[in-house]
Amino acid sequence: MEDVLDRFLRYVKIDTQSREGEGSPTTAKQFDLARLLVSELEAMGAAQVRLDEEHCYVYARIPGNLAPGRTAPAIGLIAHMDTSPAVSGENVKPRVLLYEGGDIDLSGDGTYVLRPGDFPILNNYVGQELVVTDGSTLLGADDKAGVAEIMALAEYLLTHPEAEHGEVCLAFTPDEEVGGGVRHFDLEHFGADFGYTVDGGPLGGLEYENFNAASAAVTVTGRSTHTGSAKNAMRNAVTLAMEFQSLLPPEETPEHTEGYEGFYHLDSIRGDVEKCEMSYILRDHDRSKLEAKKARFGAIAAYLNEKYGGEVFNTRVKDTYYNMKEVILPHMEIVDKVLEAMGDLGITPMVTPIRGGTDGAMLSYMGLPCPNLCTGGCVCHSRYEFASVPHMRKIVELLAHILEKHVKS
Ligand SMILES: [Zn+2]
Repeated sequence: MEDVLDRFLRYVKIDTQSREGEGSPTTAKQFDLARLLVSELEAMGAAQVRLDEEHCYVYARIPGNLAPGRTAPAIGLIAHMDTSPAVSGENVKPRVLLYEGGDIDLSGDGTYVLRPGDFPILNNYVGQELVVTDGSTLLGADDKAGVAEIMALAEYLLTHPEAEHGEVCLAFTPDEEVGGGVRHFDLEHFGADFGYTVDGGPLGGLEYENFNAASAAVTVTGRSTHTGSAKNAMRNAVTLAMEFQSLLPPEETPEHTEGYEGFYHLDSIRGDVEKCEMSYILRDHDRSKLEAKKARFGAIAAYLNEKYGGEVFNTRVKDTYYNMKEVILPHMEIVDKVLEAMGDLGITPMVTPIRGGTDGAMLSYMGLPCPNLCTGGCVCHSRYEFASVPHMRKIVELLAHILEKHVKS
C-alpha cells in the first residue's frame, strides 16, 4: 500500500488554484488532479468511478463488505481539490523534514522563515516529520491532505477485506475556496446517508457548528451642490455612510471577536457626495442573534431616514448560509462515532465552532448531514502552511475506524 505521504507529495505538485469569478470549475487546471485521481481510483479497483467532465467533480464507491446480518449506513467522504487564490499554488516544492524545534528557514535565504514565535502551534510538532514549502507558494495541505487521506483509505479498504465497513461514497470537489464547491454536487448519484468533509486542521479537530451568514448592502443617496452654497442643501452620502457605520457596535467586528462571538464586517465602501455604497457581511453561530443583527440594519436605516426626512438609506439583506448544527443535532450519532473512534485511537478531540462556512454546511442543508474532520494540515492559505506526516497517517487510520464504528450487528 502506498504511504499517504507519497500521495500527498504527488498531489500538492499539481497546481489546482481556483479563482474568484465565473465558471464552474473556475479554473480548468483543477481537471489535472481530477483526472489523476480518476485513473488512480480505477487502478486500485474502486467502483463506479466517474468524472463530471463538465464541472470537475470526481465520484467513486468502495462497496460494503459487511458480514451477514450486519448493517451500516452509506457514508460519504469528501475533500476539495482546489487551493486558495490567496497564495500561489504553482510549482509547489514540498520539503519533508524532521522538526527538532526552533525556526525553519523555508526559502533558505531568511526571506521566509517559519517561526514558533509567529506560529506557536509549531511547538506541538517537535520531533515530528513535517512537510513545508520553500516559501514561494502555499503547500496545499488544504485540502490535498484530505484528498490524500481519503485516497489512502480507499486503497487500504480495497486491499484489507478484513476491515469491515458499509458502502463508502467518495467525492472530490472543485472550487471550495471560492464558495462553489457544492454548486454542481450530484447528491443523488453520491448516494450517501450522511458524510464527512475531510477539510479541517490539526489532528483531533471535529467541527459541526459554523456561522449563520448574511450579506447586507447599504446604499446612501446624497445630494450634490456647490460647496459655496451648500448650507442646508447638500447631503453628503459619504459622511452619512460614516454615520450609519458609527451606529453599529464597535466591538462586534472580526478583529475584536472570537469563539462564538458574532460580528458585523464592513467589507467595502465606495462612493462620493451623491451616492455611497457599503457592503457588509454579518455572522453569528446563533440564528436568533443573526436575525437581531439583520434587524438592526433595518432599524438604523429607519432611524436615519426619519432624521434626514426621506429615503436616504436603502438596505438589502440576504442570507448566505446557515449553521449546520441545526441539521446535525437530530443525528448526533454521526458526531458521537467520531468521538468514540478518536478515543479508541488515543486522539484528543478538539471540537470547535467554525468561524466561517464549509461545504459541509451547504451539503447539510441540501440533505446530507456533514461534519468536518481534521487533515493534519496547519496555517492554511499561507506560505507557512505545513502538514504533519504522522498525523496524516493517523487520520487514515481514524477514517477506517470511524467506518467500523458505524457497523451495527
Ligand atoms: Zn479547505
